[in-house]
Amino acid sequence: MTMVRTRIAPSPTGENLHIGNVYTALLNYVFAKKNQGQFIIRIEDTDRQRLIPGSEERILESFRWFGINYDEGPDIGGPFAPYRQSERLLLYQKYAKELVEKKAAYYCFCTPEILEKMKAGQVSRKEIPHYDGRCKNLEAKVVEKRVKSGEKYVIRLSVPDSGTTVFHDLVRGDISFENKLIDDQVLLKSDGYPTYHLGVVVDDYLMKITHVIRAEEWISSTPKHILIYKALGWNLPIFCHGPILRNPDKSKLSKRKNPVWASWYKEQGFLPEAILNYLSLMGWSMPASVPLSGTSAGKPNGKEIFSLSEMMENFRLEDLKPVGPAFDLTKLEWLNGEYIRNSKFETLSSKLSEFYQKKYSEEEIGKTLSLVKDRMKKLSDWEGLTDFFRERPKTFEEKPDQKILTKTIPVLEKSVFEKDVMEKKMRELAAEINVKAGDVFMALRNAITGKKATPPIIETMIILGKKESLIRLQQVIKN
Ligand code: GLU
Repeated sequence: MTMVRTRIAPSPTGENLHIGNVYTALLNYVFAKKNQGQFIIRIEDTDRQRLIPGSEERILESFRWFGINYDEGPDIGGPFAPYRQSERLLLYQKYAKELVEKKAAYYCFCTPEILEKMKAGQVSRKEIPHYDGRCKNLEAKVVEKRVKSGEKYVIRLSVPDSGTTVFHDLVRGDISFENKLIDDQVLLKSDGYPTYHLGVVVDDYLMKITHVIRAEEWISSTPKHILIYKALGWNLPIFCHGPILRNPDKSKLSKRKNPVWASWYKEQGFLPEAILNYLSLMGWSMPASVPLSGTSAGKPNGKEIFSLSEMMENFRLEDLKPVGPAFDLTKLEWLNGEYIRNSKFETLSSKLSEFYQKKYSEEEIGKTLSLVKDRMKKLSDWEGLTDFFRERPKTFEEKPDQKILTKTIPVLEKSVFEKDVMEKKMRELAAEINVKAGDVFMALRNAITGKKATPPIIETMIILGKKESLIRLQQVIKN
């Protein structure tokens, strides 16, 4: 049996790794590993105008953060190196010429001005803009002469005028395109770089990719790819177009409506394993045959929380849905909170210390962590949930009840700072001065933390210590 080989082929034209590409990479990675295959990264950097310096490094760094390990790639090499398209130009040029020889492609000398005019004419006639094929039938001799004289040219795919191009998609079945609606796509640009269409086919073939798993936005490009494969006499890979991530209004996930860069999620304190778990739900679900219990953390799940290895065990490409639910940041936050709650204490305090770039030691974090862990959805929540441990409140969400506080001070001064003792004394005091116990705790909470919602106040005061707690109470009374 041939070894399964899949790939992700990001273009370094964005700030960082796009979350949609994380999703596609996840599908490719899980599928390859499930089948003891290989997963590779190829950088498609042929659009020189849109290239962003540093983007490739940031993309690779993000993959490492997610733990999506690749077997071959631009930084680690592999048997099919180089894995950066800009370093493979001669290959594309060779195959472009081969396509011309096979009459599946042709030289085109139309200048940008000619193309502009062509487009304007088509638009005014209400036609879909397309290349009108005027260079398609140039005589070979004429072509040779013009190329030799140094005239600029591109190489275009010669799409048949009639008939259909059909391909089978693992998720969507047979998809058919009328050839007359397929444009004579540029394959090789005048700067000698291939376009995506030529680059992707040549590389998927040479790199022995068995399954092309990508987002549905590439479906309309696939017939062009099929024509190239066929012209070169190459076997087709298996195609599988998964869902794209969508905004709630069903449009493609976009910067305007949702954060899209992996780096944003990292900076916000999302955990990579939670993000991958969430993304896996975008077009797939754990089969019903899998028992409900047994998350990585050993807690029962609603089949929505599972580890990558559990996904790997149960994943089948055929089970992918063509359209997934909208990308929902609130649900991701909830899931992330679940992962935080299920994390081991030591792991979490070390992650937090790392997240805050060692501004807080694990020990310092450890002091308050168990009090706030349940209220954290993201690592970045910890600082705000615990700020009052480090600083006396300057403002108060609700004015502390000074009358009650005046009475608490002498009692607390005489009390040991132990949970049961303090709680008992505060309840007795409440009864004595005829207020609800809750009011006493609330007055303490307001004064000690400045906030209305905090971890249990007595535990908070114990962590702060007797001296600091009393100073805070006295300060409120003085003002
Ligand atoms: N370079 C394309 C991208 O940016 C790759 C698409 C594909 O997987 O064929 O996503």
